[in-house]
Amino acid sequence: MSTLRFYAIKKSLNRKPILIEEKERRSEIFGSNVFNEATMRQFLTKEAFNSVMAAVETGAKIDRSVADHISTGMKEWAISKGATHYSHWFQPLTGSTAEKHDAFFETIGNGLAIEKFGGSQLVQQEPDASSFPNGGIRNTFEARGYTAWDPTSPAFIYGTTLCIPTVFVAYTGEALDYKTPLLRALYAMDTAAVAVCKYFDKNVKKVNTSLGWEQEYFLVDSALAASRPDIVQTGRTLLGHSAAKGQQLDDHYFGSIPARALAYMMDLEVDCMRLGIPVKTRHNEVAPNQFELAPIFDEANLAVDHNSLLMDVMHKVAERHNFKVLFHEKPFAGVNGSGKHNNWSLSTDTGINLLGPGKTPMSNLQFLTFFINTIKAVNDNEELLRAAIASASNDHRLGANEAPPAIMSVFIGEQLTNVLNELENVTNGKLSPEEKTELKLNVVGKIPDVLLDNTDRNRTSPFAFTGNKFEFRAVGSTANCANPMTVLNTIVAKQLRDFKIEVDKLIKKKEMKKDDAIFNVLRDYIKKSKNILFEGNGYGEAWEKEAAKRGLSNHRTTPEALKVKVSDKSIKLFEEMGVMNKIESEARYEIEMEEYILRIQIEGRVLGDIARNHIVPIAVQYQNRLIENVKGLKEIYGKDFKKFAQEQLNLIEDISGHISSINSDVTRMTDERRTANLIEDFEIRANDYCFKVKPLFDSIRYHCDKLELLVDDELWPMTKYRELLFTC
Ligand code: ADP
Ligand code: MG
Repeated sequence: MSTLRFYAIKKSLNRKPILIEEKERRSEIFGSNVFNEATMRQFLTKEAFNSVMAAVETGAKIDRSVADHISTGMKEWAISKGATHYSHWFQPLTGSTAEKHDAFFETIGNGLAIEKFGGSQLVQQEPDASSFPNGGIRNTFEARGYTAWDPTSPAFIYGTTLCIPTVFVAYTGEALDYKTPLLRALYAMDTAAVAVCKYFDKNVKKVNTSLGWEQEYFLVDSALAASRPDIVQTGRTLLGHSAAKGQQLDDHYFGSIPARALAYMMDLEVDCMRLGIPVKTRHNEVAPNQFELAPIFDEANLAVDHNSLLMDVMHKVAERHNFKVLFHEKPFAGVNGSGKHNNWSLSTDTGINLLGPGKTPMSNLQFLTFFINTIKAVNDNEELLRAAIASASNDHRLGANEAPPAIMSVFIGEQLTNVLNELENVTNGKLSPEEKTELKLNVVGKIPDVLLDNTDRNRTSPFAFTGNKFEFRAVGSTANCANPMTVLNTIVAKQLRDFKIEVDKLIKKKEMKKDDAIFNVLRDYIKKSKNILFEGNGYGEAWEKEAAKRGLSNHRTTPEALKVKVSDKSIKLFEEMGVMNKIESEARYEIEMEEYILRIQIEGRVLGDIARNHIVPIAVQYQNRLIENVKGLKEIYGKDFKKFAQEQLNLIEDISGHISSINSDVTRMTDERRTANLIEDFEIRANDYCFKVKPLFDSIRYHCDKLELLVDDELWPMTKYRELLFTC
């Protein structure tokens, strides 16, 4: 193994940046591989074009005969760009994207062939789906799943394949993917938000959800990554002593981007431009070899597709640059992990950002309405929001010694806190004209100025208001954003629906004016949502104690966090909002728990293998050398040998101590795994993996890392942190 380590180091040291030449302006190539509006106008009949646009804008159904025209136009365009195949592209619950390529090529007899792509192939496909996770929904022998075209996310060409974004559902109608519940949640949000907007502007017909994700990642030289079985198989290092220099000097964050990494980013960005992914920002992150990439925000469904596609493209481009991209939330102990901030806002078809300040008191009251309803939704559903970001890998951030914590809270800044405090004192019942004028002038009316000042950003908050959007920061870097976006939009949609009912009731029953009713309901919400508001340092014991007093949940592990997904309240919520039925909620819970188990199981196996078959033999080998040395000293010095061999003797004993601890811990871990594997009930099995198997990882690692400090560097088989993290 050590030969592999040194071979990899040598290889990595000889790498040069692989520079690409950008011949065209980015604005010129943007979207050139996307079947977007401009391209559709060119390749579709007017009827076909109008039909797609109506589907995008109002969700109108596309007629089968029109679908034939659309597919023909799409095929002509794709072939003109060099595509040979088409594929339904979807996001099953495996966490990655799925595609099955079919050629346009078709034979028509007599040795003749044509290129064909009919409407039916565009609209629906039936991948052999029995191997995707389904949580017991789809018995492979009874019913199959199918993919169906999602016209709201445009088709694109990647490589030589025309990719058609699709949903993936069982024949019985249940969703088997991330996109379906997201689309339903976005629809629920649209409906609920439009109804509330009507209080302020009758012309609003549609509310779109916007998402701007920020993708953090690590780059590791591909040869170095390949030399570590843990990185290859689990995406993270399961052991490795910290390098002397980590991130203590803060010299990486926003530092000058290393040449090889920059060449990679440029190449990647050009691919993104062609695919219509509007990437804009790139920079070094806090940890060595850690970077971030962020686009201009987009409609949420499209932004989610873009992020899933991006993660795939990042892997592919990395191959060209001899890098491996690590999306894992904590690939290296001792330095920062990676997240994927989800910047979220709502905008109307009249061009208003509902979470941004407006120009008039009325539009600012509208802002406050959406702002306070969001806070209330998070307050009432903090546990569900925590569950939406739970995964084995994200457990290393949330609940470990790293911000953000596993406790959900909302940060709004000092100025908006003051605004809420003032609103809390609004009169109960009808407001006097003076009070209303005062409110409109001095509280609501001042919001734009207040927000201009809202620059203090609390970086430790899991959910922060940042001027014109909320930033959900606890999302993990490996996550499919659809999951948190589905939950966030569902809880806020439900909250807006309740708000509308309450306001209407006051208007009707108490004969209140609309503004009075809104102020009254908002005042109550502020009073009820106090527990979730927190401006302080988001992690550490003080906040944990305080949060416990407030009754906020603090689920540090995935099995504990996920459970709320199947509480009566959650199941009812998703059902009521038309996002998921009971079967779907339960299936997802089971799938995520099973995934958790499998991830820990794989890590356990890999760690056991590395510790026992790579590290212990090398430690023994080194120990033998020491023994030889001691024997030699004894030969020369006779009974005085200890004077010269004491250090070696100490080392021999230390090594034996670590070897014996590793062996007993690995044996215990293997036994715990065996016992857990026999448990039928997945909840109990997940808990066993979480509380009995996983804790042993730490002590195995501890002893291996100690050996790393003792054993001759020449012999050490695992590429070290200082080599992995500083050669890029
Ligand atoms: P940070 O300081 O956290 O890095 P930025 O201000 O650079 O954040 O913005 C990060 C992301 O927020 C970008 O992807 C950007 O497009 C997105 N964003 C900006 N405004 C909005 C908005 N109104 N809705 C959703 N996302 C937004
Ligand atoms: Mg951010």
